[in-house]
Amino acid sequence: MVPQDLHIHTTWSTGDDAVVPEQTIGLIARLGHAEVVGISDHLELIGEEYFDDYRREVQAAGLRVGMEVNGQRWVDAASALPCDYRIYHCFDRAADYRGLDRLLETGVPVIVAHPNALDTDLARVPPECLIEINNRYVWRCDWRGFYGPFVERFQFVIGSDAHQPNWLNQTVARYVASELRIREKLLFAPS
Ligand SMILES: [Zn+2]
Ligand SMILES: [Zn+2]
Repeated sequence: MVPQDLHIHTTWSTGDDAVVPEQTIGLIARLGHAEVVGISDHLELIGEEYFDDYRREVQAAGLRVGMEVNGQRWVDAASALPCDYRIYHCFDRAADYRGLDRLLETGVPVIVAHPNALDTDLARVPPECLIEINNRYVWRCDWRGFYGPFVERFQFVIGSDAHQPNWLNQTVARYVASELRIREKLLFAPS
């Protein structure tokens, strides 16, 4: 079990082509792949008017309420909606860096989502922000060169960015085996 996973999408992000119908809040809660689990659906896909319903469903499942905010354009809407944390797309534009300052003012943790995928210039990000190492995107970049110079400047969080159950690594298969009371045959002793 990993300690935390705060970047997870569900069917509340319908419209994001990567999300499958099986990716429900209920399934994620049952899988229990992390000690602390948060749901961070795209605010523009949830719809501001449905955010209360979304928050209630996440809370009822015992999970943390997050959202993924698509740049400065959505900062006003995001700031007005109560949640436990926000994940932010910081495009490499002055207005989007200013959006980080405004989100920080709300006092809720701000996580900069997959900066390597959006060309976010980490030198322009306030050090109070948390930086994500994102399982979906991080392997597609020179991560040593991208994150290396900033390891002392920031605190980091690790997220799956799961849109499908199997993006939670082997968790689904292990969950099924456990439900069927199957004990995996281990062929080799750990070295
Ligand atoms: Zn994203
Ligand atoms: Zn995401």
